[in-house]
Amino acid sequence: MSLAEHLHREHIQRIRDELDAWEIALDESHVPEPAGSTPRVFSREEIGLRPVKGRPAPLAVGSMLHISGGKPPSEKFPAFRILRTMQHYHIDVRGWDDVGYNWGVCNRGHVYSLRGAMIQGAHAKGYNRTHNSIVWLGGHEQHSDVKPSLLAFDALTFLLEDHAKKLGPGSEMLGHREKSRKSCPGDEIFAWLTAYRANRAA
Ligand SMILES: [Zn+2]
Repeated sequence: MSLAEHLHREHIQRIRDELDAWEIALDESHVPEPAGSTPRVFSREEIGLRPVKGRPAPLAVGSMLHISGGKPPSEKFPAFRILRTMQHYHIDVRGWDDVGYNWGVCNRGHVYSLRGAMIQGAHAKGYNRTHNSIVWLGGHEQHSDVKPSLLAFDALTFLLEDHAKKLGPGSEMLGHREKSRKSCPGDEIFAWLTAYRANRAA
């Protein structure tokens, strides 16, 4: 094995170890944003993501909601760290240009700029160039007691409405499961989305 291959394997192993480390218990001691406030939007620089490599895309049809399926952020593994590890995993293991999603949200009600606006995503085959992807950080099966918070729904609302404002009233708001056999974005978020769309249409 060449030195480069060896270093690459070590790098991949560190990413896997970090993913495993998310099993460590959730600490809820952090203070959330006030309910109903405009969410705090963190930039890629604040999160500490590697430089963007994405291709511009119109994302002109709508939005699609996802669940990370990982551990929810905690004091020990804050959202920034989870998102950096997710980016390493998507680039170095999956071979993608960048972290797959356009935006992230967490139970503190924060919004995270990932690929950001108008950049092709890697989140759902056939929808990467048309739909703005938003991922909720959580849903790990061993932490299924941690449900999306009202603050997380506030943050989803902020992003869905921001996108709808730019695209017009006909823009789609989808859950991943509507276009795939996956359970993503999970029962809670999908039930919320269904009610949200019905309410909006009324
Ligand atoms: Zn998904």
